[in-house]
Amino acid sequence: MNEVVSNFRVVSSEIDSELQRRAEQDRKVQLVVVSKFHGVERIRPLLEDGHRTFGESRLEEAREKWSTLAAEFNDVSLHYIGAMQSKKIKDIVKIFDVIQSIDKPETAMRVAKEIDRQNRSVSCLIQINIGREPQKSGVSPEDFEKLFRLSTEEYCLNISGVMCILPAGVDASPYFLRMKKIRDTYGLPELSIGMSDDYVCAVSHGATMVRVGARILGARN
Ligand SMILES: *Cc1c(COP(=O)(O)O)cnc(C)c1O
Repeated sequence: MNEVVSNFRVVSSEIDSELQRRAEQDRKVQLVVVSKFHGVERIRPLLEDGHRTFGESRLEEAREKWSTLAAEFNDVSLHYIGAMQSKKIKDIVKIFDVIQSIDKPETAMRVAKEIDRQNRSVSCLIQINIGREPQKSGVSPEDFEKLFRLSTEEYCLNISGVMCILPAGVDASPYFLRMKKIRDTYGLPELSIGMSDDYVCAVSHGATMVRVGARILGARN
């Protein structure tokens, strides 16, 4: 079996085992395969195996790779997980089905405007800078409510959940707990936490989406 497909199956079955262990077999966890920095030939076997949910963090790269692949596999769900630059929002809305990284009022406003202009259906998550790191984007936990209200009430964005990227090398649990609490407080369906090093921990803390790159596709150059 293709190496990438076999990695995918291992990750998938670890997620299933954790759900089973918690007697939560009915809970759905979406495995978003993060394919940034990996070429079409490495991604294709997963598509041929039936997987359809992928994440990318760079617009140009995603456009290049997925214009070819989307023609062949027309039911792919592409998640944008990168930084939101104003001048790129138009094209991000054009090619992505889910935007996981709404980070501030201006982004929410521009995304809403483009969704409306292009008549697209795009579901959005708000990225929370849960580790309060100055170099990371995302809204601070205390400013979340304001951004959420503005996005949903003022701009009529479909905010389906929250996403975070943890600081490097921390114990993930307390951060995941805080994320889940925010998600629960606002009654949102999606909790996008967990990457290659902590997806099982994320599932045990209620993740509905995990974003896994290296563990499936291998190290990035
Ligand atoms: C790169 C990236 C991932 C995947 O990271 P891995 O450690 O390769 O699993 C997940 N989420 C975001 C936002 C990323 O940029």
